[in-house]
Amino acid sequence: MTSSTAQAAEQLLLQITSNLCSSWDGETSELLSLLAGSETQHPDRSATLQQLLPQLQTAAERQQIYLQPRTTWTDQNLPGMTGPVAFFSAEFGLHESLPIYSGGLGILAGDHLKSASDLGVPMLGLSLFYHEGFFHQSFDAQGWQQESWSQLDLSQLPLTEQRMSDGQSLRIAVELPDSLVRLRILRLSAGRSGLLLLDANLPENSASDRQLTARLYSPGQQIRIRQELLLGIGGMRALQAIGVTPAVVHLNEGHCAFAPLEDLRRRMVEDHLSFSAARAAAAAAVVFTTHTSVPAGHDRFPAAMAAAHLQPLAASAGIDVASLLALGKTNPADSDEAFCMTALAFRMSRFHNAVSALHGKVTRSMWSALWPDRSPDQVPIGHITNGVHPGTWLAPSLRKLYSRILPQNWEQQPSTAADWQALTLLDDRELWQTHCSLRHRLLHDVARRSGCQNLDPHALTVGFARRFATYKRADLIFRDLDLLSRLLRDSSRPIQLLFAGKAHPADEQGKLILQHIWQLAAQPPFHGRVVVLPDYSIDLARRLVQGVDVWLNTPRRPQEASGTSGQKAALNGALNWSTLDGWWAEAWNGSNGFAIGDTTDCTDPEIQDQRDALSLYQVLQQQILPRFYERDPGGLPVSWLQMMKNSITSLGWQYSSHRMVQDYAALAWRPATKFQASSVVPSS
Ligand SMILES: *Cc1c(COP(=O)(O)O)cnc(C)c1O
Repeated sequence: MTSSTAQAAEQLLLQITSNLCSSWDGETSELLSLLAGSETQHPDRSATLQQLLPQLQTAAERQQIYLQPRTTWTDQNLPGMTGPVAFFSAEFGLHESLPIYSGGLGILAGDHLKSASDLGVPMLGLSLFYHEGFFHQSFDAQGWQQESWSQLDLSQLPLTEQRMSDGQSLRIAVELPDSLVRLRILRLSAGRSGLLLLDANLPENSASDRQLTARLYSPGQQIRIRQELLLGIGGMRALQAIGVTPAVVHLNEGHCAFAPLEDLRRRMVEDHLSFSAARAAAAAAVVFTTHTSVPAGHDRFPAAMAAAHLQPLAASAGIDVASLLALGKTNPADSDEAFCMTALAFRMSRFHNAVSALHGKVTRSMWSALWPDRSPDQVPIGHITNGVHPGTWLAPSLRKLYSRILPQNWEQQPSTAADWQALTLLDDRELWQTHCSLRHRLLHDVARRSGCQNLDPHALTVGFARRFATYKRADLIFRDLDLLSRLLRDSSRPIQLLFAGKAHPADEQGKLILQHIWQLAAQPPFHGRVVVLPDYSIDLARRLVQGVDVWLNTPRRPQEASGTSGQKAALNGALNWSTLDGWWAEAWNGSNGFAIGDTTDCTDPEIQDQRDALSLYQVLQQQILPRFYERDPGGLPVSWLQMMKNSITSLGWQYSSHRMVQDYAALAWRPATKFQASSVVPSS
């Protein structure tokens, strides 16, 4: 073998990994992890590379075919799109190597980009390049969360800087009250979608301005409003600077709601429109998705702070800043009312939606003051339930099984209920063996991460992983410690619980819950049966949802807007065990998983917690354990497998981000591209 073979292989590897779609093509991602694994075992990288040359060639060819323009679902369903959907989000969770996400919101944005690529919807994501990303989590000796940040290494990321035709780095600028912040644009390819990340960490900016894009969700309202100005206004200017006119501007949560104001300004300055005409025109092609039922989750800034930060924009448009401030208030006449990004987003968008049916109902009533002449049920906020990206979340071994039955090329087109119904044909034994080996792989990984060596490879394995926000009640299952310890220790029907998740650095309450669970897990009787895994991330999430038997979720209804981790679990045949909140309230059909509690409203959280905990234990004892441990003479849990199949066939296609993107295309993007200003924009 010659070293030129190794060089060719190295070149191919670079080419493949320069596009993030290498992470969601099953065979390519397997090849890449093989390579990463062999690196630690065989220091002779060039020998390994030479060996893998044929596979690398195949992977590169497959990637080229994937990236080619072709007749896709979009050409038939979104004809005449004149530009991409510009998808604004404060965070994007695409891959663990780029930790610019904190939780479900970012993962959803990433899954949007990926499904848009698979289906051929032109899409460009916009966000900030947080060079220290989101924090890494560890625990001190008392189980208190420790946060640390590390510098992202640009040379290790497939990001390229946008340059002008003369090769100079492209710069845009955003005015702050006391400075002009310059930004460069870093670009990432995610299949056929792109992601533009704005970076203020440049020598020409002041030290404090350089820090504006250091961390995701930096504490302090002033940093926050500045980050949001860079994202919204900077994002629109970045699009213009690279010559892209979006067909639709999509605001993923209120953080990005300044974007339409930049469009409004431009229409006043360049098209000489009046304020109200410019406002209507700017809102016409804007879609806004709201993501939280928790009031504190909506950004509000003091009126004076908002005024100071919007002043440069108002001056450029030649208007009084009060006109802009009014857009962010429920009562525009109230000079003291805080400026709310969500109110702004509703006012500056033509189409608005919540992310599950129940969340739609909550949202309509929560924001009905913006539509004073309508009753809450007539508030024009619909819902499109979230979904997850199959290529990213489905285990490669299961993907192979499913692909034998699903239509050819199913990952690059929308699926139907009938397609997935066919998966009832999956061979029970094969499905169970595949699932068990995924569980073993998970437990192996858990042992490596936690040092916990005595996990039981055959025990019912339950996962709980998400942000540790208090409404998610991670400790609900610990309300009756005696009962729980008896259940976990039952040697004929053992259970083990795996926990992971970060609390927001400023969330003391969330950290206390985390510490409580950590301390329980550290001692008898729970030690070895309850494990807390540090530093929750996309790769840990992938392992967990692919390897557990049951996915536990206990939000206090109706505070979970959608939730998506349970959808990832369902795709992999894990059974959801969840309160009837968010997506599960509409997805549970009685035979595709387990419901905790019911759908009655409860206004006393203490009573609600008590009731839900009782129901949780009942379901565990009466439904989950008997079903899981009942085996036929061949050792198969036949009735469990039946439920796994019910879960896969009823949920896999419906809670896929392909279905979600299809819905957005039909219900929001297509109308938005056609829409001229209309009366549905709320009156101010
Ligand atoms: C899917 C996912 C989430 C969202 O989980 P929810 O249960 O919907 O809150 C958060 N973090 C990571 C890393 C994820 O992969």
